[in-house]
Amino acid sequence: MSVLEVDGSTGEGGGQVLRTALSLSVATGRNVRVANVRAGRAKPGLMRQHLTCVRAAAEISDAAVDGDEIGSQQVLLRPNRLRAGSYIFKVGTAGSCLLVLQTVLPPLMRADGPSEIVLEGGTHNPAAPPWDLIERAWFPALRAMGAQVEGRLERYGFMPAGGGRVVVQVTPGAPRPLVALDRGGVSDRMAEAYFANLPVQVAERELKTVGARLGLPEGALKLREVKSQGPGNALVVTLAHGLGAEVIAEFGVKNRSAESVAKSVAKEATAYLASGGAIGRHLADQLLVPMALMAGGRFSTVKPSRHTVTNAEIIRAFSSGAVKIRALDTEYEIEVAPIAREIT
Ligand code: ATP
Repeated sequence: MSVLEVDGSTGEGGGQVLRTALSLSVATGRNVRVANVRAGRAKPGLMRQHLTCVRAAAEISDAAVDGDEIGSQQVLLRPNRLRAGSYIFKVGTAGSCLLVLQTVLPPLMRADGPSEIVLEGGTHNPAAPPWDLIERAWFPALRAMGAQVEGRLERYGFMPAGGGRVVVQVTPGAPRPLVALDRGGVSDRMAEAYFANLPVQVAERELKTVGARLGLPEGALKLREVKSQGPGNALVVTLAHGLGAEVIAEFGVKNRSAESVAKSVAKEATAYLASGGAIGRHLADQLLVPMALMAGGRFSTVKPSRHTVTNAEIIRAFSSGAVKIRALDTEYEIEVAPIAREIT
C-alpha cells in the first residue's frame, strides 16, 4: 500500500506534527512516514515521550514500525487493524504521558469496543496540557463528539522526577458534530496552585498575583498541596461556561518567579475573556484531530496558535480541505470536516 509522506518540519515543527500523523494513520489505516521529526527543535528527533507515542500508536493498531528509537528523525508506521483493549503506556521519564493520551485516545474513540488506557509519566508538564485541562475541557468536548470518556488521576507527575499516573476509559459511540460557537457567560472562576515538596509560599504568591489580576474573590483561590515523587508546581485557572470550561495553566520552573507564572496565566485568561471565542488557545489545537476522526463540527476561538495552524495543515495532508480557519470580527471560527473512515 502507498505511504503518505509527512514533513515533520512543517509549521511549528515539534512533536505535535508527529502525534497528529500517528493518530490519523492509526485511525484511517493509512501508512505514514514522518521525516524530519521535530526539525524545529534544538534537539531534533524522538525523545522519550515521542517514542512512547510511536510505540503506543503501533500497539493499538498492530502496526509494523520503523525508526522507533531515541533520536530517530524518521518514522514509518504501517497500521494493520485498530484494536480496542487494555493498554499501559509508560513514558519512562517525566515526559508528558498526556501527550501519549492525545495520540491514542482519538483513534480509540472509533475502535471496535471499549478500551482502558493506563499512562505513566508527567501529568503537569511545561508546554503540555495538564490533567486539569484534559479532564475538565478536553473530555467534555470528546463526549460531545459521541464517545464516552472518563478518567482519573492516581498520581501527580512533575518535571523532572515524573512518577505520575492516570487511568482513562473510553467507549466508542455514534459520532456527532461538535458545535461550540457561543460560550455564553462565564459562570464560575477558580485558580488553583498545585505544589509538591515546595514551600507553600510559592503557591500563595501565585494565587495572590493571579487573584489580583483577574479580580477573583478569596474563596476562588485554592491551595492544592499534592504528593509527588519530586518537587513541582502548576498554576491552573478554570473558567466554567455553558459549553464546558476553559483551563489555563502555567508551570513553575527553577529560576522563574511565582509572580511571572501568575502573570502569564492572567494574561492568557484575560485574552480569552476579551475574545468572544468559545474555545481557548491550547484546547483549539487539541480538538482538531478528534473532530476530524468523529463527525467534524465548528467552533469559535481566539487567534489560532502556530500549533493550531500546523495541526490543520497536517490534517489536510490526510484529507485536503478538512480544516478551514476564518477570521471574524473579534474571534476566529474553525470548521472541521470528518476524514473518511477507511482509505484504501
Ligand atoms: P516538542 O518537544 O517538540 O515541543 P512536544 O511533543 O512536547 O514537542 P508540542 O509539539 O509543542 O510538544 O505540542 C504541545 C502540545 O501541548 C500542544 O497540543 C499544545 O496545545 C499543548 N500545550 C502546550 N502548552 C500548554 C498549556 N500551557 N496548556 C495546555 N496545553 C498546552
